[in-house]
Amino acid sequence: MSDNLFQTFLDRFPADKSKTFLVERDGTERSFAWLIDQTGRYAAVLAFHGVIKGDRVAAQVDKSSDVLALYLACLQLGAIHLPLNTAYTGDEIAYFLGDAAPRVFVCRPANIDVAQELGGKNNVGTILSLGSAGDGSLNDQAKNVTPLIDVVDANKDDVAAILYTSGTTGRSKGAMLTHNNLGSNAKTLHSAWGFKPGDTLLHALPLFHTHGLFVAINIMLMNGGKVILLPKFDADDVIERLPQSTVLMGVPTFYTRLLAHPQFTKDVTANMRLFVSGSAPLLAETHDAFFERTGHKILERYGMTETCMNTSNPLDGERRPGAVGPTLPGTEARVCDKDGKVLGAGEIGVLEVRGPNVFKGYWQMPEKTASEFRSDGFFITGDLATIGEDGYITIVGRDKDLIISGGFNVYPKEVEEIIADYDEVDEVAIFGLPHPDFGEAVAGVIVPANGSTPDTDAIIKRTQDKLAKFKVPKRIWILDELPRNTMGKIQKAQLRKAYEDTFA
Ligand code: ATP
Ligand code: MG
Repeated sequence: MSDNLFQTFLDRFPADKSKTFLVERDGTERSFAWLIDQTGRYAAVLAFHGVIKGDRVAAQVDKSSDVLALYLACLQLGAIHLPLNTAYTGDEIAYFLGDAAPRVFVCRPANIDVAQELGGKNNVGTILSLGSAGDGSLNDQAKNVTPLIDVVDANKDDVAAILYTSGTTGRSKGAMLTHNNLGSNAKTLHSAWGFKPGDTLLHALPLFHTHGLFVAINIMLMNGGKVILLPKFDADDVIERLPQSTVLMGVPTFYTRLLAHPQFTKDVTANMRLFVSGSAPLLAETHDAFFERTGHKILERYGMTETCMNTSNPLDGERRPGAVGPTLPGTEARVCDKDGKVLGAGEIGVLEVRGPNVFKGYWQMPEKTASEFRSDGFFITGDLATIGEDGYITIVGRDKDLIISGGFNVYPKEVEEIIADYDEVDEVAIFGLPHPDFGEAVAGVIVPANGSTPDTDAIIKRTQDKLAKFKVPKRIWILDELPRNTMGKIQKAQLRKAYEDTFA
């Protein structure tokens, strides 16, 4: 029996293929029959251009239902789907093409010239284009082929996708995810979050990241629909469609933006059964404000490109603000010190995980892969965390964001939680800067709350009541907004760079 993930999805599609899988923003409905046909057509075009099992197919394309057919076509051929962030520029694309050596690169129609030039330099066999309005050469060619029906055999450890990490802490790494990594995680989440026929997922996330594709879409492919696909997050659009939906998956900024919208009321969420948050920390404050407004407790979960999802607050049971819940069934977690010694309940250390969800390794980085795994198969996530007696995990921050000032550890989150509570502060980010005496000094940026003009020296002084001297920020700057990427992750490396000479 084949372990091809596409076959797993096909086996779970409803018997009546005329059923709707997806509804686009303009109301166009896409049935399962459409999805299977379009996938088969793309698979035929890719095969015509020489794509065989194990070949990479890279794509930097705008979000549309066709992108899903392209993903599934790669699976059908046993090829490796390689989605790229739509924000990447020419230089970045050149790096990814050089690194991944795809057989085919699918670009946006407007980028065809640049793509052809970059593809030529990087030995990419064929450049195709795909637009979000049914345009592009991939679609032109797909109209004139006979759709492929056969699904190439794949075993569970064959690579289904290479997904590059978000590049928050350094250069993005290509994570090799197998058919079983993706399939087992989607099944686990499908059951943990209680998906049933009749659920409608409102989709406003990108399709080039694990959250939007391997969590949201894979679950809905397992569920036999149905998805409302929006091109991007827009609070008005989301509010308009929440009454027809039952589940929303979002990054924390979705929720803060909804809360800031005057039309986001309890009534709007009456048909919803679940709001999920992940990709970046959800402040307990946001969780509480959301509950007060809507009566819904946002369910926070934690994962990464390399591991899909590791933990989740429960569907039934306590959804604890500020915590990411216990491990999902099948996944093990432990907190260790740098040497790999397992720490006790409540102690802060690096989180390590093991399970069928954990990736096969970094593409063409055997040494990096080896250094991130323990000999017993645990993957070192690089996130600092605690595990409570009750198994609930709290993410404290990233290992790389830990500040060591005068030899003492400062966890940015602890300082951030205190400053975020001040009325004149909307958002805050704390980070370390090189300092001649202390090694690193604690510093931060704040975004003022609406209409206020905070005195940063006064803020620094106020923190002295709550924080030991070495944790008190030495400087705080005011910004209009925090630098975030498309997934709402705060770009601390960028902040460290911007202010690096302050104490030098
Ligand atoms: P890179 O590895 O390239 O530096 P990245 O780690 O941001 O980038 P992703 O794989 O997209 O790339 O993100 C995974 C990270 O996101 C996790 O390691 C963790 O730091 C963070 N994260 C995800 N979910 C949560 C959550 N619920 N709470 C806190 N952090 C989270
Ligand atoms: Mg990472």
